Amino acid sequence: MDATTSADRSGLIVEPWDAHNRALVDHVHPAGWQNPRPAGRYHLVVIGAGTAGLVTAIGAAGLGAKVALIERELMGGDCLNVGCVPSKSLLRSARAWADVRDAGRFGVEVPPGARASFPAVMERMRRLRAGISGADSAERYRKLGVDVFFGAGRFTGPDTVEVGGQTLRFRKAVIATGARAAVLPIRGLAESGALTNETVFSLAALPPRLAVIGAGPIGCELAQAFARFGAEVTVLEVAPQVLIREDPDAARVIERALLADGVRLVLGARIQMVERNGAIRSIRFEAGSESRTLEVDEILVAVGRAPNVEGLGLETVGVAYDPQTGVKVDDRLRTTNPRIFAAGDICAELKFTHHSDFQARIVIQNALFLGRARASALIVPRVTYTDPEIAAVGLDEAQAEKRGIGLTTFVQKLDEVDRAVLDGETDGFVKVHVRTGSDTILGATVVARHAGEMLSELTMAMAHGIGLGKIARVIHPYPTQADAIRRLGDAYNRTRLTPAVKRVFAAWLRWTR
Ligand SMILES: Cc1cc2nc3c(=O)[nH]c(=O)nc-3n(C[C@H](O)[C@H](O)[C@H](O)COP(=O)(O)OP(=O)(O)OC[C@H]3O[C@@H](n4cnc5c(N)ncnc54)[C@H](O)[C@@H]3O)c2cc1C
Repeated sequence: MDATTSADRSGLIVEPWDAHNRALVDHVHPAGWQNPRPAGRYHLVVIGAGTAGLVTAIGAAGLGAKVALIERELMGGDCLNVGCVPSKSLLRSARAWADVRDAGRFGVEVPPGARASFPAVMERMRRLRAGISGADSAERYRKLGVDVFFGAGRFTGPDTVEVGGQTLRFRKAVIATGARAAVLPIRGLAESGALTNETVFSLAALPPRLAVIGAGPIGCELAQAFARFGAEVTVLEVAPQVLIREDPDAARVIERALLADGVRLVLGARIQMVERNGAIRSIRFEAGSESRTLEVDEILVAVGRAPNVEGLGLETVGVAYDPQTGVKVDDRLRTTNPRIFAAGDICAELKFTHHSDFQARIVIQNALFLGRARASALIVPRVTYTDPEIAAVGLDEAQAEKRGIGLTTFVQKLDEVDRAVLDGETDGFVKVHVRTGSDTILGATVVARHAGEMLSELTMAMAHGIGLGKIARVIHPYPTQADAIRRLGDAYNRTRLTPAVKRVFAAWLRWTR
């Protein structure tokens, strides 16, 4: 470790080694940390201190269980260190700049020379991340009664895990080892020194030309941010649309937004090879019938996540896994070894912090208290934090068709919503799917600047069986973009005005005139 430039806590490199990153590391992998002496048999031994592991450990310890938490790199996992937290900080700066850039549309004069300063953006991110990291710190967990061990955890026997040369005994164990950036088997890519989410947040200077491989949520969010900061960004995506898992209408809005920010989008791109010549990386790819070469200064690979299943000794304890999809669990989040549970990205298809959090709560109930909580009962919303955001929950049209479920869809475009018009944010919509013949909400997609905030109303309705018709009876303040949701309630209720009902109303009104 070169203490003047970086901290390498057996894995992740934290750079630059400034006061903020020093504060971060002091919290989440303090130098000189002494692992405690193992305390007999633990109720729970948790491997991995990302969101899933932290929530499991703190929740179980809070209930009085004796808990050991093992982390080989940085507590807080991806979300705090190289995921949600740094990325959302960058996106906020990118949005601030876009607001300044576009202020002329709102009658605001922008002084010449206004620009985003990438080093200042990154410094802000590091400062905020360090501030937030206190909540995930080793010291805080220790004070809350959790035995925190740094080192790689590995099962060595039916009720034992080894870490740092010590053996911990458990009644139940939880695998919460998360996932890492998936790699693409493309010739020359690994040798080119491409960035992933583990290294991109350590950049000190804005790369003038950036290629982003993959137009999933991470690729789209960072492509838009880097383009706004002034990089020439090209996104190479093999699929015919960005955000392939999302509603195609929603994806088209994001494509328009990315193009408006100057991102070059190459859909249907098949990358053949990458070559590095000094500081320049050349990507050879085919798109349609054309063969092209793209020269850039940096490449960011964002093609999905690979579960951290290696080196855990899973075979020793009979825990089945798949190298692509992770540890196999049942609906109670039990692995194929009934004493061992899993939670978070290591086993979940929907890899989100809030999902890890709620899976951890299920594990606490089921592992410690013979609970019967089911993972399939969770309604998991998801948000891509581009500008505008895409937020979605439940089924979409394609999934419903596959399952033979009849859907009726209600759409409110934002160009008919006063607040969106006044905000100049009209390219978006709220789409709600109900079970045909009822107002039971089965899914929704919102595309709006703050879609993530708007979606919670619909997720709440789904979780508590509140139908779309009932939402029409909830007063939403005027003018708000969320009022679009209430208007869909009205739209649903209008469908109940059948010709027969209308005839009865007309007769009554004639009679009472
Ligand atoms: C760029 C990016 C942006 C994201 N943005 C969002 C967002 O905005 N919202 C959202 O909900 N989600 C977001 N995510 C996803 C989110 O970060 C993950 O879903 C979440 O971190 C998963 O938590 P986890 O605890 O399952 O795994 P992780 O956070 O990956 O934690 C697992 C931990 O286990 C440790 N570990 C692994 N193996 C061992 C071992 N053998 N011994 C000891 N420790 C081990 C790892 O070092 C790691 O600290 C983002 C992800 C990325 C990459």
